[in-house]
Amino acid sequence: MNGNRNDPAAELREYMAACMQCGTCSASCPNAEFMDVSPRRLWRLAQLDRMDDVLASRTFWMCSSCYSCMLRCPRGLPTTRAMQALKRLAAQQGAAGARRGQAFCRAFTENVERYGRVQEGALMNTYLRRRANPALALSYVPLGWKLLRRGKLHLLPGSGHKGRLAPLVNKVREMEARS
Ligand code: SF4
Ligand code: SF4
Repeated sequence: MNGNRNDPAAELREYMAACMQCGTCSASCPNAEFMDVSPRRLWRLAQLDRMDDVLASRTFWMCSSCYSCMLRCPRGLPTTRAMQALKRLAAQQGAAGARRGQAFCRAFTENVERYGRVQEGALMNTYLRRRANPALALSYVPLGWKLLRRGKLHLLPGSGHKGRLAPLVNKVREMEARS
């Protein structure tokens, strides 16, 4: 979003003012079932200036930036960028969801930077250690066990891709520091 960088909420309202509530974004979203508020409804809340409700939602944290909604929006609205702007806004405001999201994002970035691919065991180990919440760690046990039994969880890191993504991650860090 290129508009008013000093007021991300105003920026969001400005971009979403033209939303006609057709619902194409919600229907296009592969992650909609994990969202508590549909993308269409989120943009309506933004239009109504109900930013507390917008930021309390976990919808934008579930957005994987696939760009489907943005490509299909009949009004050509930058919906994906608006989702990203909401993540930044929530992070600036120190929302609980932002702390969780940032902890996972950092653990994920460090993980792929180090191993060159996602190493699930190390990722969850780092994330859960940082969250320092034993109840949260325990809540993942059934899922971890299920994945392990199906061979989807790799506890020992492979060495084949080690460090391969580090230059890419460093480049992004450089770009972020400049912006
Ligand atoms: S697809 Fe575009 S116009 Fe339709 S509801 Fe979503 S943001 Fe609004
Ligand atoms: S960019 Fe985000 S909100 Fe839009 S369709 Fe993809 S996951 Fe859903």
